[in-house]
Amino acid sequence: MRKNRRIVTSDPAEIAARNEGFRREVAEFDLVYRCDSCIHVRGEEHSCIFDYPNEMLVRGDVQALDDNGEWVFCKDFEIQDG
Ligand code: SF4
Repeated sequence: MRKNRRIVTSDPAEIAARNEGFRREVAEFDLVYRCDSCIHVRGEEHSCIFDYPNEMLVRGDVQALDDNGEWVFCKDFEIQDG
C-alpha cells in the first residue's frame, strides 16, 4: 500500500462524474499532466527518471481519479517547453 494515500471519494458514481468533468476540461483547455509532456520522462517506453510507477500516466485513461478515488497526478510533473 502506498504511503500518504489521498482518497477523494470512494463512491464509484462520484469518481465517474469527476473523471467525466476532468476529461471535458482537458479537451477544453488543452491541459497536459501526463508523462509524455513531462521533462522527466525517459525513452520510447516513457519510463520515469525517478523510477516512479507511471503506467497510469503513460497508458491509462485520461482521468483525475483512479478506481480507488485517489488522485492520479504526479507532483513532480514539469512541463516540456521545447
Ligand atoms: S516525474 Fe511524474 S509526470 Fe514526470 S515522468 Fe515521472 S511520473 Fe511522469
